[in-house]
Amino acid sequence: MADPKPGNAAPAKKAATGAYTPSGVSPNRRARRSYTIRLWAVRHSRFLEWFYSRFADMFLLLHPLWKALGYNRVETPITFVERNVKGLLFDCRMCGQCVLSSTGMSCPMNCPKQLRNGPCGGVRANGNCEVEPDMPCVWVKAWEGSRNMVRGDAIMNVQKPVNQSLRETSSWLRVTAQAAEAREAAAAAKDA
Ligand code: SF4
Repeated sequence: MADPKPGNAAPAKKAATGAYTPSGVSPNRRARRSYTIRLWAVRHSRFLEWFYSRFADMFLLLHPLWKALGYNRVETPITFVERNVKGLLFDCRMCGQCVLSSTGMSCPMNCPKQLRNGPCGGVRANGNCEVEPDMPCVWVKAWEGSRNMVRGDAIMNVQKPVNQSLRETSSWLRVTAQAAEAREAAAAAKDA
């Protein structure tokens, strides 16, 4: 029997093994520039923890303003700022439920498997990701960052699954609204 011509056999084999890669997608698509800044954030997790705490206090202080303007109305501009600032510093994916303060300032949404409660079993011996070999495992970095933080043991807290309906919304505003609500409830309970 005659061998199939190589030119005819190749496309069928490629389709069978799923070798097709959608355009713009590659296992190493995350820019190394992002790792660099992200790794800086992990190395400075203690400072960022302190800064974030002050920042959250300031946002809470501005609660009357957000309330007067309407949380819904300020959502778009605040989300824009949050996306850009956290995108630059942490390669934030805007999950809307930020856990950076519990993960050593290493965003778990950069894990290709998007694991929120620790690494998978595939971390390489050099501490890099099994899916993206050039990328340090976000959970290895999370542990390192958490060791520098005052409240670093929060990394032991079990995180809830991601609520996809909160994607692309502002964590800053949500946390502020929740803190303001808790504060008002505490004040009401005290008065009662
Ligand atoms: S945990 Fe969510 S909100 Fe926080 S940096 Fe990561 S993707 Fe952004």
